[in-house]
Amino acid sequence: MSHDESMPSVVVVGGGFAGVGCAKELAKHDVNVTLLDRNNYHQFQPLLYQVATAELSTTDIARPLRAIFAKDDTVDVKQLTVTDIDVNTRTVTTSDGQSFSGDYLVLAAGSRPNFFNTPGADEYAFPLYSVDDATKLRSRIFEVFEEADANPARVDQGALNIVIVGAGPTGVETAGSIADLVNQVMPARFHDLDVKRTRIYLIDHGPVVLAAFSEKAHDYAAKKLEHKGVILKLSTGVSEVSADSVTLSDGSKIPTRTVVWAGGLQAPEMIGKVGLGQGRGGRLTAEPDLTVEDHPRVYAIGDVANIPDHDGNALPQLGSVALQAGRWAGGNILADHAGKPRRPFHYHDKGIMAMIGDGAAIAEVGAHHHELHGHMAFAAWLGVHAWLMSGVRQRVDAFISWGWDFLGSSRSSSVIVDPSAAQIDWGDEEK
Ligand SMILES: Cc1cc2nc3c(=O)[nH]c(=O)nc-3n(C[C@H](O)[C@H](O)[C@H](O)COP(=O)(O)OP(=O)(O)OC[C@H]3O[C@@H](n4cnc5c(N)ncnc54)[C@H](O)[C@@H]3O)c2cc1C
Repeated sequence: MSHDESMPSVVVVGGGFAGVGCAKELAKHDVNVTLLDRNNYHQFQPLLYQVATAELSTTDIARPLRAIFAKDDTVDVKQLTVTDIDVNTRTVTTSDGQSFSGDYLVLAAGSRPNFFNTPGADEYAFPLYSVDDATKLRSRIFEVFEEADANPARVDQGALNIVIVGAGPTGVETAGSIADLVNQVMPARFHDLDVKRTRIYLIDHGPVVLAAFSEKAHDYAAKKLEHKGVILKLSTGVSEVSADSVTLSDGSKIPTRTVVWAGGLQAPEMIGKVGLGQGRGGRLTAEPDLTVEDHPRVYAIGDVANIPDHDGNALPQLGSVALQAGRWAGGNILADHAGKPRRPFHYHDKGIMAMIGDGAAIAEVGAHHHELHGHMAFAAWLGVHAWLMSGVRQRVDAFISWGWDFLGSSRSSSVIVDPSAAQIDWGDEEK
């Protein structure tokens, strides 16, 4: 449906948790929304590692934005890449030269991986931030096993060494899930390969895993990972990534063809061009009401922003923060348009949690971060993720059935689909 000129207009950049949350809130009222995203789908990032390790397929975690807004006539979805933002005129320009202006502008473009200028990381490591990243990583993992099976000499060249950089929730979850894949699934799939020669390394420059969690949680997670065979290299940095190895800060080298980068996030490149104040990670500094300084009709929400909590500290980059901030920004836009005051964002803390695989999980739930381990934590994790999925209209049914089947998961999505990630130069083939 074309936009009604008498209604206020809002341009939303990004169809992640924050952008979808905001547009859904506005869709309940008479507001024209234009939602721009470079992809035609919303991707559910918390489940990317399940795609990378073949527990889920891409269609379980990505949903077309047009399907999400099919019943919302006032929301126009455009698959376009935003290249420039003018906050003074609330206008964005896209890579094909089009411009979109609104009475309000909502910046919700998420993050991108931060390689911290580590030589070679950008070129050779696999980040885990998008569906595309997850399918590339999955293709690489299964390809190195295929190549080691076809030519056992590849094992000595590091084919079965998998290195994960960053021991935050993403790194820990990925390491745990790869370990379960290697221990439980690969032996039945590769009858002629000594799968036990697989080595999974988890590297972090800090002294603990899951640094944001309690001390008890650090020990629990480290013990569970080591029990699964993950080799922890803590207080160790990565100084270089190359096509065939990782060099560590102590000078040692690990031969490998599979380096997973879970080392950190930063704001998208275009945010640097906006001309607004940027804080940690290059993120925009949001005011308590989620607008940006001196621009009461421009909002910065989700991962793109440092959003202050009630003490002025930045809230973490989490789906639950992004979704709630998106809804809140929608509410503030409606209030502002009605001549009412905008309210400071109040985050309802759902806690923090991480799955370590195979029944092992850790959760610090609620505002007081009550700590749970094992199956109780897994149940809390399932509940919070189901809530998040329903908030962005993802397929909760497939997720829940995966959750209950988890212990017997068959990894049916283990086909190699990305030829670029599956091409490995071993340096010894005849051309
Ligand atoms: C591997 C991983 C695991 C995670 N696990 C959890 C978890 O268990 N629990 C949790 O709460 N959080 C988790 N998070 C964090 C959570 O996913 C993010 O905080 C959340 O996705 C942020 O939402 P957002 O809307 O700000 O950004 P995003 O979800 O990143 O969405 C940004 C959108 O903007 C679009 N975009 C970007 N640039 C442009 C452009 N130039 N033009 C047009 N469109 C653009 C992108 O395509 C994307 O759709 C995880 C994150 C990752 C990467």
